[in-house]
This record gives sequence, C-alpha cells and structure tokens, in this order.
Amino acid sequence: MFPRVNIKLDALTQNASILRNYLEEKGISTVAVTKVFGADRQLVEAYHKGGITQFADARIENLRRIDQEYGTRMLLRIPMLSEVPDVVRYSDSSLQSELIMIEAIDQEAGRQGVRHQIILMVDLGDLREGIFYEKDLYDIAARIVQLENLDWIGLGTNLTCYGGVLPTDENLNRLADLAEGLRGRFGIELPVLSGGNSSSLYVTERTKNPRWNQLRIGEALALGTEAAFGERFIGLNTDAFTLEAEIIERKIKPSVPIGQVEKNAFGESPVFLDRGDRVRLIVAVGRQDVDADDLVPEDPCLEILGASSDHMILDAGDCIESGFQVGDTIRFSMNYRAVLRAFTSAYVSRNYI
Ligand SMILES: *Cc1c(COP(=O)(O)O)cnc(C)c1O
Repeated sequence: MFPRVNIKLDALTQNASILRNYLEEKGISTVAVTKVFGADRQLVEAYHKGGITQFADARIENLRRIDQEYGTRMLLRIPMLSEVPDVVRYSDSSLQSELIMIEAIDQEAGRQGVRHQIILMVDLGDLREGIFYEKDLYDIAARIVQLENLDWIGLGTNLTCYGGVLPTDENLNRLADLAEGLRGRFGIELPVLSGGNSSSLYVTERTKNPRWNQLRIGEALALGTEAAFGERFIGLNTDAFTLEAEIIERKIKPSVPIGQVEKNAFGESPVFLDRGDRVRLIVAVGRQDVDADDLVPEDPCLEILGASSDHMILDAGDCIESGFQVGDTIRFSMNYRAVLRAFTSAYVSRNYI
C-alpha cells in the first residue's frame, strides 16, 4: 500500500544504543521521546533493543501504547485538567508547571492508591512552558513539599521550541543552581535535572562535566540530527525513515500553465519558470499525508514542483533516460515534520524493514 513510510528498525536500534551509551558516559540518562512516530509499538521495541528503558510522549493516547515491560513512561506535555485520571493511570512521571494541576494530580494519585513522580518545569527564556520567576518557583515549591502522593524528583527545562533560544552552559547551569537553592531551603533531593531535548546535545558535547543528568530525546534518536543546528550527531543514522509514493501519471507537458493564473487551491500564487516541454510525473501523495517542502527525492534528477491535497507533481525533465513509468515508486528522504505528519496521517502505511 502506497504511500508508505519505510522504517529501518535496525538503524533505530543502533541510534538508541550509540546515543544512550554516549550520554551515559557523561552521566546523563536518555529518555526516548516517541511522539514523532506516535509511539508505534515496533519502533518502541527497536529503541528498547538498543537499551532504552525510559520513554516519553506528549499524548496519553501514545503513552498507552508503550508496554510497561519496555520501561517507564513520562508525559511530556504539561497536562490538561480534564485528563488528570489518565495521567496518573498511564504515566509514571509528568512534567508540570501549574500548582492547580499538581494538586489535582496529587489527589488523583491518592484516589488510585499510587505514587506519581513530577518534574517541575522552569522557563529559562524560551517562553513556552515553565515557571519564569524565582519567587514563583519558591512559592510553588513550598506547596509541593506538603503533598502526600507525589514524588517531586527534579527540575526540567525546554529550549529552542517556541522562542528558538539555544541551550548553553549558562542557562542550563541556572537550572542546576535553582535546584541547589531549593535543596537547601526545603531539604529535598531533587535528583533529576532534565536539561531539555535534542537541541541540548551540542552543549552536552562541548561541556566537560554537565550538571544536567537527563535529556529527553526525540529527533536525534529518530533522525540522527541534533536540533540546535540540524547537524548530524556523533555518526547517528539519518536514513531510518523514507517516504515511498507511486507514480500515477507520466507525461511531457509545458512547464508554465496555459491561461490566466490566479491563486491555487490553497490560496497561494505559484511562480513558474519556463523551461519548455518537460517530463512531468504525478505521484499519489499529497498535503493530507505530508508537506512537499519537507521531502527530498532520493533521485537527484527529480525536482518537486508542488502538491495539492492528494497529488504531488515532479519535474523529471533531466531523467528521461531513467524512464520512470506509471506504477513505479519514488522514494524521498524525510525531515522531522515529514515523519510527524506521515505517522499522523491515516492514509500513509508503514513498512517495517
Ligand atoms: C518534543 C519534546 C521533547 C523532544 O524534543 P526533540 O527535539 O525531538 O528531541 C522533549 N521535551 C519536551 C517537553 C517535548 O515536548
């Protein structure tokens, strides 16, 4: 069934093993983030084979898919009040930033007769989730230490997500300093310092003795790239995912539309370069599945011209020799967004290799 994502499970297992060992040597534990592939069971298993025993996802629906025998489950997105019972039921730990939520989780854990771990999020400047002012941090801390069903295990932060603020030694050390202050004031351990996502890898590489001891890693494990500069990280595999779609038309046509050009189906005004008559292909994949901008054809002589909901048009004018035919398939490399979209589309199947 096409379109499909081809998934090299061995490449994912290898990434898990390489990155986990690399971080472990620096005293950092790896929490594998599964949201980019919707916590697909086979991919979770591939990570587990590579030594991963801590998993995290932004959605409860995905966490439910992660078998407890593979490891612990962390909820990444600060929860909704409306999902508190499921947070306690389906995750072992969660990231938190609001006292009202933390109190609700505490009560629910009591009701279910379980303990729940929380990591309190600190906003170091990226301006997404987390407590920004130190005074607020101490106020909320004073309340959390009184709660009976929660284990407050540490502080966490998230950078480069909304504001694009880069993690540095400086801002991550502030997390460690804040934890020191809280330990002193409240006599608590706060053993976990969760220093961010794949964008924190480059600082971790440059820092001799990092003071953060946990990273929550999605992109680097799946795509092989760190997320601050998009560079390949310590030789990780970058080709675990490819998208494959089938050719449904191959014709020679002019390269500029005939007639008065107005806005397309998405309200955009396309621009055309006149290159005369060209070989053009239509493949059966569209914006319902993935954005064309997030794909690169593996065959260098193909060029994506554009896509509508269900059709992608390619220029194959330089590939006349390679003779693409209707029924052949074309493979594309995928970026993070493409993988996320493809695993969310009900129309893209999965081919595990
Ligand atoms: C998505 C997410 C991550 C993982 O980010 P990557 O850049 O894919 O490593 C980590 N923490 C939180 C809170 C997230 O939402």
